Amino acid sequence: MGSIFQKIIDREIPATIVYEDDEALAFKDINAAAPLHVLVIPKRPIVSLGAMSADDAQLVGHCLFVCKQVADAAGFSDFRVVTNSGEGAGQSVFHLHFHVLAGRPLKWPPG
Ligand code: 5GP
Repeated sequence: MGSIFQKIIDREIPATIVYEDDEALAFKDINAAAPLHVLVIPKRPIVSLGAMSADDAQLVGHCLFVCKQVADAAGFSDFRVVTNSGEGAGQSVFHLHFHVLAGRPLKWPPG
């Protein structure tokens, strides 16, 4: 069964999509943690960064470039990209996604 993000790709549930191409999709997080909080996902359903294979490297690199484009388009030169890989790291949706966060002070290290 597909994840909730597969349903967003398939337009079975709504999302505010901010970028799309053949390989990737970017949409606003439903529970924004910053003024800019967008999720960038590959359309191919890789489970997590920890589950990626060498064959996925180009696609994952493309997703990171999309993260930069999303920040650019929103007018942010300073931003954070985070991916939680595995339940213990806070992953709750098991379709690889990169959080793009900006628009407030971002402390380091994260909690
Ligand atoms: P994770 O905890 O896996 O790193 O991040 C999952 C993110 O997906 C969370 O920030 C959560 O708010 C977001 N999310 C979960 N369900 C939906 C949904 O149906 N639509 C959107 N736009 N975001 C979602």
